[in-house]
Amino acid sequence: MVSLPSSIDVAIIGAGAAGLGAAHALKGSSLSFVVLEARDRVGGRGHTIMAAPDITFDLGCGWLHSADRNSFVSIAEALDFEIDRTLPPWSERVVATAFPQHEREDFLRELHAFYVRAEEAAQDGRDKPANLYLEPGNRWNPMIDAVSTYVNGSELDRVSVLDMDVYEDTEINWRVRRGYGALMTAYGATLPVAFDCNVSLIDHGGKRVRIETSRGTVTADKVIVTVPTNLIAAEAIRFHPALPEKIDAAAGLPLGLANKVMLALDDPGDLPKDGNLRGATMRTEMGGFHLLPFGQHCIEGFFGGRFAQQLEDAGEGALAAESIDEIASFLGNDYRRKLTPLKESRWSHDPFARGSYSHALPGHAGKRAVLAAPVDGRLFFAGEATSPNFFSTAHGARDSGERAAKEVLARKP
Ligand SMILES: Cc1cc2nc3c(=O)[nH]c(=O)nc-3n(C[C@H](O)[C@H](O)[C@H](O)COP(=O)(O)OP(=O)(O)OC[C@H]3O[C@@H](n4cnc5c(N)ncnc54)[C@H](O)[C@@H]3O)c2cc1C
Repeated sequence: MVSLPSSIDVAIIGAGAAGLGAAHALKGSSLSFVVLEARDRVGGRGHTIMAAPDITFDLGCGWLHSADRNSFVSIAEALDFEIDRTLPPWSERVVATAFPQHEREDFLRELHAFYVRAEEAAQDGRDKPANLYLEPGNRWNPMIDAVSTYVNGSELDRVSVLDMDVYEDTEINWRVRRGYGALMTAYGATLPVAFDCNVSLIDHGGKRVRIETSRGTVTADKVIVTVPTNLIAAEAIRFHPALPEKIDAAAGLPLGLANKVMLALDDPGDLPKDGNLRGATMRTEMGGFHLLPFGQHCIEGFFGGRFAQQLEDAGEGALAAESIDEIASFLGNDYRRKLTPLKESRWSHDPFARGSYSHALPGHAGKRAVLAAPVDGRLFFAGEATSPNFFSTAHGARDSGERAAKEVLARKP
């Protein structure tokens, strides 16, 4: 266990992808540093568990999005983590009984047309809620909104069209066979991380920065803050003197909600490996299901937005019960006895995340740059929400940590 130093050159707050990226970038410099982490593990919103002895489950991030530009790909290769390049199920291998081919094609056409309208609207630089670019009366609108709940963790009425427009996605998505969270654990293994170290106050009023934690006080010359926006906005971590512009920026970039559930599947029959099950439900309140991920005998469900919140608030088991109902409605009642709930995520109740990933509220697209800006050459900010184009992702978070560490190094006396 890393003991808490009383004094250090650089304190990094949070050992998620951003904090780990920052720490690696400081390795080899002359600066001493420590990562202060409230949990008893690294990875933050990257967390792999074994849901059963033979079922790997990423409770948080799972996909190496924009894999051709994703800095975790070379890290995985260097750490000998096998990369699976199978195309994602949301575009391939769809079970047609729940969503007939011609209907699916119609849906995808309308989804694409919506994105084109939103992109065109963003060209005038005026920020508006993205739902304004749904075609009035289009029968697919609720399901286009469901896609937003998966991608943004939020319905389109709370999503900034300008922010949505600058998100970069090369549409190449790979996975790590042993889990994205497991990769982060390996990536963080050699770093000095003080666990169970919940930071409550960053006092930058004096000559050095004083950091109050649940394990005692640390003083530092510089601090890199990587905690999720919902914690900054709610002042779960406080600054003295107060930083109202950071609180305002964080509040404009709330974490939406996405939750996953893992169900063991007895006798998968002829279901496709890495298949997709989604119904033409015409509802926003619906899950998406990944069949037999990596060929494992299980189904992973994914829910987002207000519906995910409602299910999480209903308590443990609600996500699994809803998933079994939806799957049985598509594949038949036989599936009720074939499916066994294993584990579900509860990201909005997680005290050190309070949500899943950030989106900008309408009118707040410029807040990512405000949140990312250093204060007085001593406080630096990273985390997925500060990434200009890869926000909401693990690689965007990691790269932002590296960027913040470079800012620190550039100011070395
Ligand atoms: C369900 C779900 C699915 C996702 N899917 C994908 C995906 O497929 N691909 C992808 O790229 N991304 C995905 N993401 C998003 C991705 O996981 C995050 O964007 C990324 O992990 C965020 O990293 P971070 O370092 O910015 O924040 P975090 O991982 O949240 O790290 C911040 C750290 O700060 C710690 N902390 C908080 N408060 C304090 C405090 N007061 N004192 C000390 N420490 C504190 C936290 O414990 C945490 O470890 C998903 C997320 C979720 C929840």
